Amino acid sequence: MKTIIEPFKIKSVEPIRFTTKDERIKILQDAGFNPFLIHADDVLIDLLTDSGTSAMSSDQWAGVMRGDESYAGAKSFYVFEKAVKKITGDKFIIPTHQGRAAEKILFSILGGPGKYFPNNTHFDTTRANVEFSGAEAVDILNEVGKHPEQNAPFKGNMDVEALESFIKKVGKENIPFVMLTITNNSGGGQPVSMQNIKDVSSVCKKYKLPLFFDACRFAENAYFIKLREKGYANKSVLEICQEIFSYADGSTMSAKKDALVNIGGWLSMNDEELAMKCRNLLIVTEGFPTYGGLAGRDLEAIAQGLEEVVDEHYLQYRIRSTEYLGEKLMNNGIPIIEPPGGHAIYIDAKRFVPHLKPEEYPGQSIVCEMYIEGGIRACEIGSIMFGKYDNDGKLIPAMMELVRMAIPRRVYTQSHIDYVAEVVIEVFNRREKLKGYKITYEAPLLRHFTAQFAPL
Ligand SMILES: *Cc1c(COP(=O)(O)O)cnc(C)c1O
Repeated sequence: MKTIIEPFKIKSVEPIRFTTKDERIKILQDAGFNPFLIHADDVLIDLLTDSGTSAMSSDQWAGVMRGDESYAGAKSFYVFEKAVKKITGDKFIIPTHQGRAAEKILFSILGGPGKYFPNNTHFDTTRANVEFSGAEAVDILNEVGKHPEQNAPFKGNMDVEALESFIKKVGKENIPFVMLTITNNSGGGQPVSMQNIKDVSSVCKKYKLPLFFDACRFAENAYFIKLREKGYANKSVLEICQEIFSYADGSTMSAKKDALVNIGGWLSMNDEELAMKCRNLLIVTEGFPTYGGLAGRDLEAIAQGLEEVVDEHYLQYRIRSTEYLGEKLMNNGIPIIEPPGGHAIYIDAKRFVPHLKPEEYPGQSIVCEMYIEGGIRACEIGSIMFGKYDNDGKLIPAMMELVRMAIPRRVYTQSHIDYVAEVVIEVFNRREKLKGYKITYEAPLLRHFTAQFAPL
């Protein structure tokens, strides 16, 4: 087989700034050893997130110029609506400025104290919106999904039996809907199988519960189904997407992921009464229902992005380039969550630096070292992000200590990825020398964004 190449030519380039190791040590120190506080201009390869960081195509930029900025009933809305309907098949399509805006509206209307929302794994904004409404967010992930070292094709699957027991336990009247996150972002970008989607949908039908998708990476999920699930190899990704959505009653979406744009989202559904309530709240919080917090040009870019994201050359390149980085690391003995997910590679910091205890923040140590070694910015997903304190002020560590390298869509080429692998391997080769960190400042909530550190 020949090399899988980037399925695009580059028309417009954005220079990246090179720094020396000494400069980076100073920059990191000034940022309190927190990469969130580094200026993006001081980063060579930015793998902090795949959200809103996609490169748009020339057709998307052309759409930006075509954008109709009429307040109500803009032409661009109908272009957007048609593109979203083509994929979801849903009757009511409501634009929002991000995924969390769609979540806020949905959970404000259907959440509240005494309610439960089962999901394979809630993403952090989803969980926050469920809990903000007073309801409880419940993760019901398949057992294999909880083990980073175990390899399985669909580690994002929900545990269907556990879902049914849960419904019986709390009562279906207390569950406004069931949610599936495709792919499972918090669980390593792992896909959900069509069989699992069907099984969850049957349980929902049995108890007359609606099923919603948190659909941020629906196209990546569909491509994994095509590659890994029997009976789908000869179906087009668009057909697979349409089948996926046919099992659900609605979706929330962050267009900053699989719509290949820098801002946007939607809320879709088939229930007319619910759609009316959502639109009424949308008008208060986001804007008129034909723009929902976005400009006409954003709606055009999303519509075009949805055409491009189901292109199989794009998806082959996308999934392969993530896997390629994963393979390079694994071949050098670097422990990662296996198999590689769709949008990111997750280093297992506990196995990378086993000499560091959770209270020495092993993930942060690797993140800082990757920046110093090669100007790469990654994100700790471990005890800094999810750690809590007990009554004596002792750290209750997170379940896993991970470092996430999220790959922006269509932004970096194979040589960038080769470089990333070289830097990580370099850091791994001197892993025994890596030191831990302590927190010198932290905010009461979401501390990972603003915390300051000092090396131990
Ligand atoms: C990004 C994301 C969201 C939230 O979307 P925003 O556009 O960042 O508000 C929700 N769920 C998942 C799975 C995500 O990845």
